[in-house]
Amino acid sequence: MNEGEFCKMKKKIKVIKIDAEKCNGCRACEVICSAFHAKPKYSSSNTARSRIRIHFDPLRNVYIPVFSSFYTPAECASRNKYIINGTEYDECVFCGASCPSRDLFKEPDSGLPLKCDSCEDDPPLEKPMCVQWCLADALTYEEREEEAEEEVKLDELETGLESLIDQFGWQKVIDTVARLTQKD
Ligand code: SF4
Ligand code: SF4
Repeated sequence: MNEGEFCKMKKKIKVIKIDAEKCNGCRACEVICSAFHAKPKYSSSNTARSRIRIHFDPLRNVYIPVFSSFYTPAECASRNKYIINGTEYDECVFCGASCPSRDLFKEPDSGLPLKCDSCEDDPPLEKPMCVQWCLADALTYEEREEEAEEEVKLDELETGLESLIDQFGWQKVIDTVARLTQKD
């Protein structure tokens, strides 16, 4: 099936609820997320590789967990400013995009986008790792099933390839793949 086509499917909706008021900024979620996604798994932990980031506002003493979401090759033409209970938050604070205007949610060595995959694993985890490690219950998890007509989405590999092509161009990516396959 090609991208852009639609199909009816039963879909498991995974929801991580964020109660920012309970977040104490321990950053255990960042540590375990980066360790879980290390290759091999748990071989290292570098929070710069985490798919969840804790935003800290020192003036207001507020911690806000933000999950990485999508990759975009272009930065937004406009910005959003949130005011919650009279507190004005900086632009982009709640955005989970991997975009050119900031270094968040990018693999530090390659610059490739990092996207929360809800800790997909085989066998599946009962709960995502960041939820398991959040002892303050700022992150909680629930899932439900829905029947939905879904557009077929790019998977993680295609998203990574799209990002590489945006950075280096088709030809360079193809040449590199050809060179690497000749090594084997
Ligand atoms: S583990 Fe929970 S309490 Fe600790 S920083 Fe992450 S969301 Fe906040
Ligand atoms: S759900 Fe998994 S991949 Fe997503 S931020 Fe939490 S630990 Fe990372």
